[in-house]
Amino acid sequence: MREFGKTGMNIKRVGFGGIPIQRISQEDTNKVIDELERCGVNFIDTARGYTISEEYLGNALKGRREKFYIATKSMSRDYESMKRDIEISLKNLQTDYIDLYQMHNVKPVEYDTLFGEDRAYRALLEAKEAGKIKHIGITSHGLETVERAVESGKFETIQFPYNIVENQADEVFKKAHQKGIGTIVMKPLAGGAIDDGTLAMKYLLSREYIDVAIPGMDTPEQVRENTAVLQNFELTEEDNAKISKIKSELGTNFCRRCEYCLPCPQGINIPQNFLLEGYYNRYGLQDWAVDRYNGLAENERASNCIECGACQKKCPYELPIIDMLKKVVNTLEK
Ligand code: SF4
Ligand code: SF4
Repeated sequence: MREFGKTGMNIKRVGFGGIPIQRISQEDTNKVIDELERCGVNFIDTARGYTISEEYLGNALKGRREKFYIATKSMSRDYESMKRDIEISLKNLQTDYIDLYQMHNVKPVEYDTLFGEDRAYRALLEAKEAGKIKHIGITSHGLETVERAVESGKFETIQFPYNIVENQADEVFKKAHQKGIGTIVMKPLAGGAIDDGTLAMKYLLSREYIDVAIPGMDTPEQVRENTAVLQNFELTEEDNAKISKIKSELGTNFCRRCEYCLPCPQGINIPQNFLLEGYYNRYGLQDWAVDRYNGLAENERASNCIECGACQKKCPYELPIIDMLKKVVNTLEK
């Protein structure tokens, strides 16, 4: 257990990521929540954007809401839509307060648009004043967003990907922790690219400045496996050797969603294409990934690439983006 920044929440360092709820039934959701309760996991994170996740969790939490801290998030950026989304979340989750409401997936270019008279942050502040939400947080895949959020003092938590092959947020997490801002790690298994879940969790928990990691879990066994790590997460020499091996195997051809490759002259949303392909291949969310891909504007899709190579010159990880986009087309347009 640990103090979650300055929020006053006392949380288990293994939390629950609600994205996989989308691929299981209400009954199976109930079983996962039963196991969370048994194992003492008390931090649940979901999102307006995860289709039925809020609703299923709301049903599963009936009668035991007080045993958990609930976090959710919205992609709304203007005042009215954020206000509406907060109400929908409250209704879906069947509660009259949400412990943490986050701005979801804020891109660096969007950051300045969050604030102002008719912007989303104001709706969050009002909801907090009214007691409908207790704390305000932010999530992103863009490092600059969380760096600015930590500097601003406007957010009580940050959520960012972090794992064996994606540790670019090291400094910002440390800084946040020093300032009493809660630190939440998403994608602890690199979107399923890391097979050894126990090792992935040990890697995170051994870092004192990380408050909570939220692996997506859709079975009671996964809950038991991930929480067992809390018994002992000291990294052994053998663990460190495995970590180096994973880094060398996965480290090179892996999109970190830093967005340095953007803008593409064709308008292709390069990291989003890789993200959706990862959901298809690693999360088992095939239909959802194809739907999302088809929901992208035509010019944002991988198939619009004319192989000009501009993006590859800008990618700090020297990823073979053109070839990787071809793989996206083969996966999501087949
Ligand atoms: S392709 Fe490279 S530059 Fe673009 S988001 Fe991924 S890691 Fe960053
Ligand atoms: S190679 Fe393709 S994805 Fe990269 S900048 Fe050119 S058109 Fe865009």
